[in-house]
Amino acid sequence: MEIPAPLRLRIDRDALQSNWQALDRLSGTAACGAAVKANGYGLGATLVAKALAEAGCRDFFVANWAEALALAPLGLTVSVLHGLRADDVEVARAGFARPVLSTPEQIARWRDSGGGLCDVMVDTGMNRLGVSVEAVTGGLLDGLQIETLLSHLACADEDVPMNARQQAAFAGLKGQTGARRMSLANSAGIGLGADYRFDLTRPGLALYGGVPRPDMAQHLRQVAWPEAQILQRRHVPAGETVGYNATWTAPADTEVAILNLGYADGYRRALSGLGAAVVDGVKLPVLGRVSMDLLAINVTARADLAEGDWLSMDYDLAAASAASGVSQYELLTGLAQRFARG
Ligand SMILES: *Cc1c(COP(=O)(O)O)cnc(C)c1O
Repeated sequence: MEIPAPLRLRIDRDALQSNWQALDRLSGTAACGAAVKANGYGLGATLVAKALAEAGCRDFFVANWAEALALAPLGLTVSVLHGLRADDVEVARAGFARPVLSTPEQIARWRDSGGGLCDVMVDTGMNRLGVSVEAVTGGLLDGLQIETLLSHLACADEDVPMNARQQAAFAGLKGQTGARRMSLANSAGIGLGADYRFDLTRPGLALYGGVPRPDMAQHLRQVAWPEAQILQRRHVPAGETVGYNATWTAPADTEVAILNLGYADGYRRALSGLGAAVVDGVKLPVLGRVSMDLLAINVTARADLAEGDWLSMDYDLAAASAASGVSQYELLTGLAQRFARG
């Protein structure tokens, strides 16, 4: 029996493709790839990867081998950012994705299992994943067949001296490893200028409508639109309250719609009293606390909205993040399994 989902995540495929095209243009002579880890930042990795491949994207990045396996039927070029654990060797040898090797142990594991085309992550100061610059210049990678040498920027969304230090450390490795390409910039890194783009960029957030640096906003469109159904419409007399802990008191008689959407769906509790639904371009504010599976919105302005109607939530990532203090990344990747996606 098929039960229609009471909430859905509408993906604007056209906006997604347009964002990639914009980032591809901004990448200049560098190719533009796509980070589709964490299920395509919560939007659905297969759906996202298909749309981006159709737009012209050729390089895809996931976190682990399960994510790579999920994309295998699409026949794309996929790199696995978390590299190669002992448990991954068998699946990695199947050849549908490349590991991004980031420790001497992983490099040895790859060589011992037969080697072949791989990527390598170099740490230039973030101290997260990657082999050291010294190890690279010392010959650790000698003989490896490297497609892409990567490094990752810690502060690309800020204007701080660390960016230039990382860029210089990475640029110093040009011609030192036999890698066919070099790749440094994530979404924000693309905005830092031509020196940061090398041969391949790897945006994630900006593809999905996140704004990594304010000056990039003009190029990017919203992709993810949470939509929920009205379960009940009710009249709240002046002076009564709505929701847990009675944080909102009706200043006048108010019409309220209860939506089938809550923080268990990734619609964060931090949006209590801050979020809104949007109908015909008009915002209908969230009233009081967001519950686990429900929230209340003010529909006094819309006598026509009734039980069973679908509403789109305002989910402008930059604005929602600024208002709630929740990062744009979390607003996307938290969108839960309960949404029907498409
Ligand atoms: C997630 C990730 C990206 C994409 O970062 P955004 O900030 O979402 O553009 C690029 N490179 C690496 C190594 C990553 O882990």
